[in-house]
Amino acid sequence: MSVLSKNPLPADYVLRLTERALEPNSIIARQCFLCGGQPTNGRGEHVIPKWLQNRFDLWDSKLGLLNGSFLPYRSLRVPACATCNGEVLGKTESYVSKLSAENIPNWTVADSYEVGRWMSKILVGILFKEASLLRDQRQPALGEIFPPDAMDEMFMLHLLLQSWRKLSLFRALHTQHPFTLYVYSLSEDIEYGMFNLSTNIFGPSICIRFGDLGFAFVGDGGLQHDLAGLGPYELARQQLHPIQFDELAARVHYKSALRNATHSYIHSEDADTFRCQQMAVVPYTKSKPIDGSDQVFKPWSQKQLAEVLERYEVPGFEYLIDEAGEAAFTRLVDEDGQKLSLKD
Ligand SMILES: [Zn+2]
Repeated sequence: MSVLSKNPLPADYVLRLTERALEPNSIIARQCFLCGGQPTNGRGEHVIPKWLQNRFDLWDSKLGLLNGSFLPYRSLRVPACATCNGEVLGKTESYVSKLSAENIPNWTVADSYEVGRWMSKILVGILFKEASLLRDQRQPALGEIFPPDAMDEMFMLHLLLQSWRKLSLFRALHTQHPFTLYVYSLSEDIEYGMFNLSTNIFGPSICIRFGDLGFAFVGDGGLQHDLAGLGPYELARQQLHPIQFDELAARVHYKSALRNATHSYIHSEDADTFRCQQMAVVPYTKSKPIDGSDQVFKPWSQKQLAEVLERYEVPGFEYLIDEAGEAAFTRLVDEDGQKLSLKD
């Protein structure tokens, strides 16, 4: 660790900063969430960016934590050092804040990259917060809400956040980027609300809609994208009603929970460039489906989906579930697979 505090920096400092930031001791000691260094005395980095909270008046909105407690967005901050605070992702924040549904017809690889980094920051930030808070203040022995030693699952997403430090090249097997991202244009329904955020931190997945944009992101190395390039019912880049997006988000979160594989990676780094190459899909279990292929996702269950729709409080979820308790209906498409239009 001491090598990082001396000059000149070692050539592989990007990798080392991520390793240091994700160390359980760094998280518990509330070091900078991006580099593991000494944080400022300030209030830290807002996980939900200030521009977004201002635009949609979200300061008093609350995030539900895994232990059942709630944290207002205004307090959802993580420790950051003077170098990393603001500066690191400033360009990404400014980039995403200027996007709108008008960009979707000409959506670029660069747009996906910036949005993927942005979603990664929010997801990693939420997990840092959960990993630094005690599950029960009166019973410290129960440990943190999210186990700090499980944060290394965030390794890939955290590396994406480091790419401002030097030229960073990511090579992925399934998409241009090592994650799944679906983008949607959303119609306006002021009464229903212009903003929603949901996560499945074990996915890990995060879905956000604000204004006329909806993003569904999974930190799965692109596995979900590989299976369905245009996402549930092939609706990516189309226009949805926000209620439809919230149903779709629940489906993406459920799918992310079924993931049963990860990837191997090779990194290399010199003074100018960091390279990260995704090598292979590595299944968690050796058991194989009948066709002999690797089981990348566990089998889909309409019953479990019904529970997920309820847990995410998808509006009117009870109408999507039949008497057997299975998610038999959808507001996304009709029987012929044509997109439904939800106007009222
Ligand atoms: Zn830092």
